[in-house]
This record gives sequence, C-alpha cells and structure tokens, in this order.
Amino acid sequence: MIAPTLDSQSIITYAHGMLSALQRTKWRLTPTAAIASLLLGLAMISSFFLLLQRQEIIEQAADRIYDVAMPTMADATRMVRGLERLARAGEGLMWIEDINQRQQIRLALVSIAEDGVLQGDPEIRATIQSAFALLDENLAALAQHGKSARNQCLERWKPLAQKLFDLSEVISSTASIAAIDEAERIIEATRDSRDRMLRLAAAMLVFLAVSVSMLMWLIVRPLTRLSRSLEQAQAGLYGASQEEVFREFQVVADAADVLAAGHRALAASKEQLELMAHTDVLTGLANRRRFIATAENELSRHDRYGYVTSLIMFDLDNFKQINDRYGHDGGDAVLRAIGTGLVGLVRRVDLLARIGGEEFAVLLPEQGQDVAMLSAQRLRAAVEAMAISTATHTAIRFTASFGVAEHLSGESLEAFMNRADMALYEAKSTGRNRVIVAPSVAKDQPLDTPST
Ligand code: GH3
Ligand code: MG
Ligand code: MG
Repeated sequence: MIAPTLDSQSIITYAHGMLSALQRTKWRLTPTAAIASLLLGLAMISSFFLLLQRQEIIEQAADRIYDVAMPTMADATRMVRGLERLARAGEGLMWIEDINQRQQIRLALVSIAEDGVLQGDPEIRATIQSAFALLDENLAALAQHGKSARNQCLERWKPLAQKLFDLSEVISSTASIAAIDEAERIIEATRDSRDRMLRLAAAMLVFLAVSVSMLMWLIVRPLTRLSRSLEQAQAGLYGASQEEVFREFQVVADAADVLAAGHRALAASKEQLELMAHTDVLTGLANRRRFIATAENELSRHDRYGYVTSLIMFDLDNFKQINDRYGHDGGDAVLRAIGTGLVGLVRRVDLLARIGGEEFAVLLPEQGQDVAMLSAQRLRAAVEAMAISTATHTAIRFTASFGVAEHLSGESLEAFMNRADMALYEAKSTGRNRVIVAPSVAKDQPLDTPST
C-alpha cells in the first residue's frame, strides 16, 4: 500500500478527485431538465383528472339505467302484460256463459286498460279503444244469440288479438333494445376507462423510474462519490495509516542520513586527495606543486597591489654523506626533523615547502629581503642545533645553506627562484651553513637575467 502523505499536494489531489467525480456526472440539473420534469408531472396530474371525468361518464350512464332505462323497462313490461291480458281475456270472455260474470271480467279489463302507461301512448290508446269496441260488440251478439254467435265473435276477435300481441312484441323489443344500448354505452365507457387507467399507470411507472434515476444520477451518485473522496482524504490525512506516514518519513530521514554520511565521506576523501596531491608524504610539508601554485598566486597579487614578497631556498649540506653514514632511513629521519622542527619557526602566512630531495623553500608574503634574511638566519641556526636519533644512531647532526631573494616587480617565478638558487649556490661555494642574499636587479635591467 502506498502510504499517504500529509502535504498540501495530496490535499489538492483529493480535492481534484472530488471535482472530477462531480464532473464525470453526465447529466446536469439544467433548466431544460427541470422544466421537462415539471411538464411531465403536470401531464400526469391532468391525465388523472381526465380519468376522473371518464369515471363520471360511467356513473352518469349507470344513473341513466336506474332513472330512465329501468322505469322504461318496467313500464314496457306492464304494457306488454296489459296488452296480452287484454288479448287473451277478450277471447276467454266468448266461452263464459254467465252474463254477470262476463260483465265483471269486462270491468277488470277496463281497469287494466285505464293504466296510465297504456293510455300514455296514442297508438296503444287507439288500439285499446278499438279492442273494447269489438269486445262490446261481441258481448252484445252473445247476449242476443247465445252460443251460436260464439264462432263468429271468435273470428272477429282473432285479428285484433293478433294486433295486440304484435304491439306488445314491438314494445318489448324496443325497450330491450334501449336497455341493451344503454348497457353497451356503459360497457364501452368502462372499457375505455380501463384502457386509459392502464396507460396512465404505465406512464406513472415510467415517470417514477425516470424521477428515481434522475435523482440517482444528479444527486445521489455525486454525493456518494463526494463522500467516498472525503473518506479517502480523511483516512489519508488523519486516519489509521498515520503510522505508515511516520514510517515513510523515518525511511526518508534514514536515507537522508546515509546520503549525508556518504557526502561527508566523499568530501573528506576529496579533501584527503587534495591534501595528498599538495603535501609531501615524508615531511608533511607542502610539496613543490603546492609551493609553485601558491607562489604564482602571491606574485600576481604582488604585481597588482605592489606588495613585496621574499623567498628563502635552502639545501642540506653534504646530505649524501648523511645517507652514507646513517643509511637512507637516517637521511629520511633528518628530512622529517626539518619538517617538524622548522614549521613552527615561520609565520602562519609563510609557506614552508619541500621542493626537491633535500631542498626546501619558504615563501614570505609581504616581507622584504631584510626580514627574510633574519628569518633564514633563524632557520639556519635551528637546523644546526638539531640532533636527531634513530633506532640505530644517536645525535645525528647536520646543517643547511640558505639563499634569500626579494621579488622584483614583473619578475617571473622561475627567475625569482633562480636568483634565490644562485644565492644558495653561493652559500654552498663559500663554505656552507650560511645565508646569502641575492642581489637586487636594477629596474632598467632585463628581469629574467640573473645577476652574478
Ligand atoms: P651539497 O652540500 O653540495 O648539497 O652536497 P650533497 O651531498 O647534499 O648534494 P647532492 O645533491 O650531491 O646529494 C643529494 C643527495 O640527497 C642525493 C640523494 O641520495 C639524497 N636524497 C635525495 N632525496 C632523498 C630522500 O628522500 N631520502 C634520503 N635519505 N636521501 C635523499
Ligand atoms: Mg641538493
Ligand atoms: Mg645537498
């Protein structure tokens, strides 16, 4: 697992994560989307009210059945029954012998015929009137002629009875057709309502699904992502992996320590190498290379600012003999003693160097030849006073010869050293263990020509 870090960069990264999570949401709650859902909602509501209106039509149709069709059917039934009774009773009367009984039945038939339902229709009323006229005619014939008139009466009644039956048939079928029409209207309205209800229910389901998914896409999903990002941020910044953060820091700190140690070692090695490159291993003094570099630098300073610089060069006397007498180790011990013994006798700014086998030099910045000569005398005396011991020999004594020169403006280092060397040669040739100052060259003389 990658340990989270507590820097501002990670906070910015988390914030960026949240923003991109919100931006990845394809649908936005645009005004168009809002208006569309509002219109869809309005359509749903108006459909619902239309459906209610439809329901009202069904109820009205049902009311009509109760208020109109049912009474019509009842009236029609009464009319049919009345007409049929009239037709049958008119025939039945022909067979009754008793006159009084015939009159009673006629009265009963009159009460049937007087029913408002039958009287209300002009055609029925006219038919009933003609039926009663024929009935009375038949009753009169029967009263006058007795049974012999019966057949004639029956023949006369038959067409009228048929007319009454036909009429009842027409009334009955008209009423039932009206009822069937009403019922069909109700059935049709109900079927239509059911279809509309189903369509509305489907539309409502779609609307609900669209609303829920819009809610999910527009609000729930971004919020979920946001909270997930926040949880990640919280876990990263303050959460359980804090230990890992510290562990990571520790690893980095350790690595930095190792790097620093390596760097220090490298720097030390570089310093060591530089020191080795510029130091004489045997004596610990500056070597020829360092002496040349420092002297060049000093001379250019001298040329620029007019400082004076002096040089002492010295060579151990009869060193070959020292080697011969005390061995090479004895000679080395002498050389080492020069290094340790003389370094404290020059100023800190002076540079004492071993420039050859048993040859040494001292650069004295900002010193004239007089001071340099005194310094050389001090060194000469110190060398003469030395008595060193080795594992095999004691009290080894030795001396050195010194040449001193003061730098001339514009003079090269080589010429400067040559002049000091000339003075040293003179010290050798005039008895050794002495100091000779090189003569200054006149300003108008060629600089690189050593004076004799
Ligand atoms: P002079 O007084 O004229 O200078 O005589 P000299 O013997 O010192 O002169 P020369 O130049 O003839 O001899 C120098 C000797 O110094 C030769 C050489 O063997 C010795 N020498 C040079 N370097 C070393 C060194 O590092 N260690 C030792 N032990 N001897 C060295
Ligand atoms: Mg020598
Ligand atoms: Mg020598």
